[in-house]
Formats: sequence, C-alpha cells, structure tokens
Amino acid sequence: THFGFREVLEEQKETLVGGVFSSVASSYDLMNDSMSLGIHRLWKDSFVSTLVPRLPPSLHQNQSSSASASSSSATTPAPFKVLDVAGGTGDIALRILDRAREKFACRDVEVEIVDLNEGMLNEGRKRVAKTLYYNTPQISFTHGNAQSLPSHIADNSIDLYTIAFGIRNCTSLPAVLSEAYRVLKPGGKIGVLEFGKVSNPLFREVYRQYSFSFIPIMGKILAGDADSYQYLVESIERFPSQPDFARLVQEAGFQTGQMREGKGGAWTDFTGGIATMWTGVKA
Ligand code: SAM
Repeated sequence: THFGFREVLEEQKETLVGGVFSSVASSYDLMNDSMSLGIHRLWKDSFVSTLVPRLPPSLHQNQSSSASASSSSATTPAPFKVLDVAGGTGDIALRILDRAREKFACRDVEVEIVDLNEGMLNEGRKRVAKTLYYNTPQISFTHGNAQSLPSHIADNSIDLYTIAFGIRNCTSLPAVLSEAYRVLKPGGKIGVLEFGKVSNPLFREVYRQYSFSFIPIMGKILAGDADSYQYLVESIERFPSQPDFARLVQEAGFQTGQMREGKGGAWTDFTGGIATMWTGVKA
C-alpha cells in the first residue's frame, strides 16, 4: 500500500496510534517476543532493577486486600507509589511488583497503569487476573492520556513514574515530561525506556535492514498487519537521539546525570543503543 505514514498530520497521530494498538492488543506479547527475539524482556528487567529502590519489608506478607491492612495501619508505611504510563498490558507494572516482593519482601507498593487504549488495558486486566496481585490495591488500571494525566492523580503524589516504549507515540514529548514532573513528589524519579539510536555504524546498518524488511513482514504474518508495524519502525526513526531526549528531560525540570551514556550519565544504552533508558529526579 502507499499509506503515507510520514505525512500523517500530528493531530491524527493519536487516532492512528489507537488503531495500531487496538489491532495488536491481543497478539502484543507474542509480537514483542518475536520481533525483539525476546530481548525486550532483558531491557525491561534492567530498567526495573535500576528504578525500584531498596524497599522496607512488609509486616504482612500475605495481605491480599485492604482488610488485613487496617489492623496494622499504625505501623504500615505509606505505600511506594508508582505510575506506569502507557503501561499497556502491565509488563512493567508486574515486573515492579515482582521485584519488590521477591527481592525486598515488600508488598507496600501500588502501581497505577495509565494507557490510552482500552484494548491494551483489558489485556492487562486479564493478565493480572492470573497473578497474586489480582483484586489487591497493588495494581490498578486507568484509561488516560500521558499528555494530560487523569485529574485524580494529584500533584506531588508519585514516587516513581515509568513510561516504556510509549512516549514515542505521543504527540508532544514536553507535555508528557511536564505532566510527569507535576505528579512526582520532590525527590521522585522518572524512568523512560524507549528505542534509541544505535551508535556503531555497522551495527546500525544491520539493524536498519532488519527493521525495514523483517519487522513489517513479521507483522503481516503474525498480526496480518504490515502497515501498523511499518508505522512503528518509522516512529522509532523519528524519535530524538539520546542526548536530544536527555535535554528534553532536563528542560522539563528534572536533574539528570551528565550528558553522556553509562554510569553517572543521563542515559544507559541497551544492545548497542537499540533501546535506551533515561532517568531523572525531581528536585
Ligand atoms: N509499556 C508497555 C510495554 O513496554 O510493553 C506497552 C508499550 S506499547 C508499545 C505502547 C502503549 O502506549 C500502548 O499501550 C498505547 O496504547 C500507549 N499509548 C500511546 N499513546 C499514549 C498516550 N498519549 N497516553 C497514554 N498511553 C499511550
């Protein structure tokens, strides 16, 4: 087809993104695994282990609802509040809850997933129903836009804000970042996981060939939809470079590491820069 995705007006972007994710919602996890050869799991694990701090162990390990919490309310610490925006099927949220529970024996973590697409939220709800977080205050789903977060999410109320492979689809990156800044507590952290730019020229060429030929073909075979995947590949190309996005994070008010990759830097590359994690702290 000759659908000119590059020519799509910015205003139409949200409608288009809605369509892309509705058409892939049910096959989303399969697509992620097949297109990244499973590597997205490692990126997400590293992202979450960097962002979730050491948390105090819960007094009541088996608390399955707010009922048991009331008896210990005097000693139960305030929950660690996470907002996982563009959280889709709950991939990041579940990793956060698992890490807190498995590593720190902590169940005093509450993750709210915000996503623009009902299809993705419903896939996430189905997935959570098979976990021990089902029907607990630890996880909730909200329909909403990253660029103007739902009004019940108050200023200065969030400890950790995450957005993984979602900000690329948003019309205004500054709007997303300033909303994140607004809802985070002072000292709260933002983590953005997104496709980056591959730095090695040879690897970059291999990756380019792979994305422009293999991914749309796989999209066609697995989801019957090459155009959506063509759009995804093009949106990756259009997204700012690592330093350009780090500058946007700073311009939103966040403190970052230095303007470079790696430890002490504003971003960390995974797999040669195919994916990148940017972090910042609200002063
Ligand atoms: N975070 C999940 C992950 O890493 O697997 C899902 C990523 S998925 C590629 C992108 C998600 O962003 C979709 O669920 C889509 O509905 C959502 N999205 C796109 N634009 C959005 C916006 N403006 N506000 C909130 N969510 C949005």
